[in-house]
Amino acid sequence: MASNASRSTRKNAKQFCSLPITPDRQFEGRIDPNRLSLLRSLDRVWANGTVLHYAFFDDKPRWRATDAEKEVVRQAFETWKKVGIGLEFEHVTRLEEAEIRIGFQAGDGAWSYLGRDILDQPSQERTMNLGWDVTLDGPNGLDTVVHEIGHTLGFPHEHQNPNAGIAWDEEAVYAALAAPPNGWTRAQTFHNIIRKLDPQSFEGSTWDPDSIMHYPFEAGLIVEPADYRNGLDPAPGLSDIDQVEVRNFYPPILPTDYERLEPLSLQRLEIGPGGQLNYVVRPEVSGTYNFRTFGLSDTVMVLFEGVDHPRFLAGDDDSGTSLNASIRTRLFADRTYLLRLRLYWEQDEGRTALLMW
Ligand SMILES: [Zn+2]
Repeated sequence: MASNASRSTRKNAKQFCSLPITPDRQFEGRIDPNRLSLLRSLDRVWANGTVLHYAFFDDKPRWRATDAEKEVVRQAFETWKKVGIGLEFEHVTRLEEAEIRIGFQAGDGAWSYLGRDILDQPSQERTMNLGWDVTLDGPNGLDTVVHEIGHTLGFPHEHQNPNAGIAWDEEAVYAALAAPPNGWTRAQTFHNIIRKLDPQSFEGSTWDPDSIMHYPFEAGLIVEPADYRNGLDPAPGLSDIDQVEVRNFYPPILPTDYERLEPLSLQRLEIGPGGQLNYVVRPEVSGTYNFRTFGLSDTVMVLFEGVDHPRFLAGDDDSGTSLNASIRTRLFADRTYLLRLRLYWEQDEGRTALLMW
């Protein structure tokens, strides 16, 4: 009895990540289902190789982090990086230089905007909050931060994967989450748990109950699969499937993956959906340059300046439109730029090209 009681107290003490409610992206006109499914699975994903800078609110007492909390955040980024991914993470002190801005407002829960949605947040606002003590051991500690970074990398909640086939005792779920310490409204519980995500964004993926993006659930909430009626506790840390998935979206980039891009040399994109090409651009003359794709396709194109600490210079995403990705910007002689081009979809395989002029 005693051990049961203490286990249920611990379970009740679990606090859950509550994602901000943002509208799903709407596309104009009728879009072919295959194209839509590729867009839905890729449109919040970063160009691979992006250096994501993160910063803390040292000047804002309400959002400030202790050194111990900052250390947990560093370890959490390291946890993802150790998997061997092409993304880089760098701590910066200036908020306006950071894509990821992490606040520690107590009582505001743990949350992050999803993938590239963080770019839509004003530069003095949080893109992530860690609202409880993440320096403690257990699922509310380091794994909470790893989970929130997972959202920042573009991963949604795994328990909302429509392929999971979870049937909830919905009223029990609403009641459990309305109770302390979460105190959620029905809308929050629906958004983060009950709502099934778009099947198109999970195409081909099987359910991973051990994913870092999966919540633990106490007994009495899951009706099906029956094996989880007594509760579900994902194994700590990144699951094997998490590691495969993140490497899928962000494979390591080797020096040999870069090609030199010269003006007026047409490049055919011989990659499949989700694939990315990486180019080095080193203009011999300063001036205004254009980069543009040709063909019926959806791509995201991002230009960075510098190699050791590349900085975002310009980007364009033509996904879901009849336009092509296009960048026009001033480049300087003898500086080095990196152009990354990720393909979402193309009408005819191999019929997309890139030109710089
Ligand atoms: Zn979450």
